[in-house]
Amino acid sequence: MRVCLCWLALAALSLSGATPPKSETVRGKLVVGSGEAPVVETAEHQRIALDGDAPTRKVLHDPRVNGFEVSARGHFTAPGKFLIDPLHTRALVVMDGGKPKMITYWCDVCSIRAYAPGPCVCCQKDTDLDLRDLDDIR
Ligand SMILES: [Zn+2]
Repeated sequence: MRVCLCWLALAALSLSGATPPKSETVRGKLVVGSGEAPVVETAEHQRIALDGDAPTRKVLHDPRVNGFEVSARGHFTAPGKFLIDPLHTRALVVMDGGKPKMITYWCDVCSIRAYAPGPCVCCQKDTDLDLRDLDDIR
């Protein structure tokens, strides 16, 4: 009977321990293939599937970011599956020469910056990928 009580106590503990997932950072090379789920390949050649909110997903499906060294903050939802924090928290950055850079998109016609790829909200021209120092973003 003593054993049973122990298990009950353990179960209760693990239930009450349902705290928000711990924030983690994964680093590696972004692999964005056409039609494939985006993954980050770590230095240990571990492939981790990436997901995020709608704008993050758009960035993750942009072939122009393929091969970039990235650092993504978020948490694992399952082994090998990583959910990136919302885009506006700047959870996904490119490591460019050891410096973190924000992935942005720029329309040189309207001088409008966007944080997801696609046509400019103003003139509908395709925006250009533009990596910016984190300090430059207001
Ligand atoms: Zn425009």
